[in-house]
Amino acid sequence: MCNIDILRHDFPILNKIVNDQPLIYLDSGATSQKPQCVIDSLNHFYTNSNSNVHRGIHTLGDQATTSYENTREKVAQFINAVPKEIVWTKGATESLNILAYGLSQSLKPRDIILISALEHHANIVPWQQVCAQTGAILKVIPLDETLQKITLSETFKLIDIYKPKIISLSHASNALGNIQPVKEIIEYSKKYQSITIIDGAQAFMHLRPDMKNLDCDFYVFSAHKALGPTGLGCLYGKYEVLNTLPVYQTGGEMIKTVSFEETIFSEAPSKFEAGTPNIAGVIAFGSAIDYLDKINFNAQLIYEKALFLSLRNQLENISGIKLYGDLDQNIGTISFNYKNEHPFDIATLLDQYGIAVRVGNHCTQPLMSSLNIEGTVRVSLAFYNTKTEIEVFIKHLKQCLSLLD
Ligand SMILES: *Cc1c(COP(=O)(O)O)cnc(C)c1O
Repeated sequence: MCNIDILRHDFPILNKIVNDQPLIYLDSGATSQKPQCVIDSLNHFYTNSNSNVHRGIHTLGDQATTSYENTREKVAQFINAVPKEIVWTKGATESLNILAYGLSQSLKPRDIILISALEHHANIVPWQQVCAQTGAILKVIPLDETLQKITLSETFKLIDIYKPKIISLSHASNALGNIQPVKEIIEYSKKYQSITIIDGAQAFMHLRPDMKNLDCDFYVFSAHKALGPTGLGCLYGKYEVLNTLPVYQTGGEMIKTVSFEETIFSEAPSKFEAGTPNIAGVIAFGSAIDYLDKINFNAQLIYEKALFLSLRNQLENISGIKLYGDLDQNIGTISFNYKNEHPFDIATLLDQYGIAVRVGNHCTQPLMSSLNIEGTVRVSLAFYNTKTEIEVFIKHLKQCLSLLD
């Protein structure tokens, strides 16, 4: 990653001027920026090969189908899975809803679903709905006494007590950046044959998860948080588990045969892909994966870690700032508050300097309640950020805070 300046040229938006200042984008946790090759890929598809997939036998239709299925193969390779284990969805949210709906069919009253205190609403609300419909019970692994993270000892204890049917955990927290010890938890839960689901919306780009190594049953993520377009996500499932899930939506494309009397569904993954999919989005995500493949992962990890440490040290040196979360196992996201100031005021002032951060509860209201706060200012880094950007951010942050004092 020593050629960071060259790499930044691949992201046209990073040259933008916002409020008369060069944009400093510190909100990659909300959505990542897109390299030119992804933008070009969308344009190229609609300009040169727009056609539906799995239908026509004409040339364009063939090309579209090939590129579309090639991306499934690329994503499978990227996470060490096989193509038939990859289902295209609208995003991590839809992937979790497909799982909640599908798994609810075999739940009984008093079955336990276990999540953590750090979950995004997308990994809470669908399970609450399932509990309301089936009589299953949602249990939560709480934060430890430092309020920074969950611990393995408490988690193992709860797994032994509850023998959960389903365990659904974020690989990395969007609000605090914590990397959660999911591998150990997945392994431990085999004791009770729990179905394990990992929400990798944040982790996918930063940690490049390996499905064989993690050995979870399901893993979900969104393309738009990993250089790809919006409106597209993935549901990975171990094939034998995935294929037993009931269908979620029905219609064209997901069937083997249909008569007015009866329909026979296809096998996974196509049985979960009713209707015309986000073809252009899938193909453009293929370009995003190619781009990530070109970046040396070890170099990315080292670079992101250095950025994070620099940000952390400088924030810790500002008196009155309180940092949240696990700052040792972290994907490069820091949430903070300043004295009793409202985070919205800080972000509004920062915006005047062209600095984009996120404020609010980050779709994690229960986590904010556990921390006894309404929300935070969140800085989320990506490999295209620089140390200079962090220095400029800190300089302007200090100016903003002095206005509030
Ligand atoms: C963003 C996010 C989601 C939801 O992803 P969508 O792309 O909005 O569907 C779920 N979980 C986590 C941890 C997230 O960061």
